[in-house]
Amino acid sequence: MATHRLFERSNLVLNMVAIALILALPVLVLLAAAGHGLYLYRLRAAANRAGCPACGHRLGTEALRQADQYWQGHLDELRRTYPGIRFRVVRLIHAICTECRSNLFFDEKAGTFTKTQA
Ligand SMILES: [Zn+2]
Repeated sequence: MATHRLFERSNLVLNMVAIALILALPVLVLLAAAGHGLYLYRLRAAANRAGCPACGHRLGTEALRQADQYWQGHLDELRRTYPGIRFRVVRLIHAICTECRSNLFFDEKAGTFTKTQA
């Protein structure tokens, strides 16, 4: 019988795992969003207290905004140059010093910025 097969042990376990994943999905999405929010908070806090490693000028959120703008332009250029290609890109520039224009990488573990040639 079809209903009997549904409740076979392996199907039951698979169904329970599927239901658990579906129930956990909103929590996982919430945790991912919270993790990203925490990352952004740490990035802004570090930019507000840190000085540029090249010239010592305080970075502030304007350095982050300029890096976001630069990075978006870089991605747009990649899409224009290679239409239809999917990229796996690691972001290497998180801030651009407003004084000396150095490209800076944010080390999340250390909470510091380092100069990068990217
Ligand atoms: Zn600088």
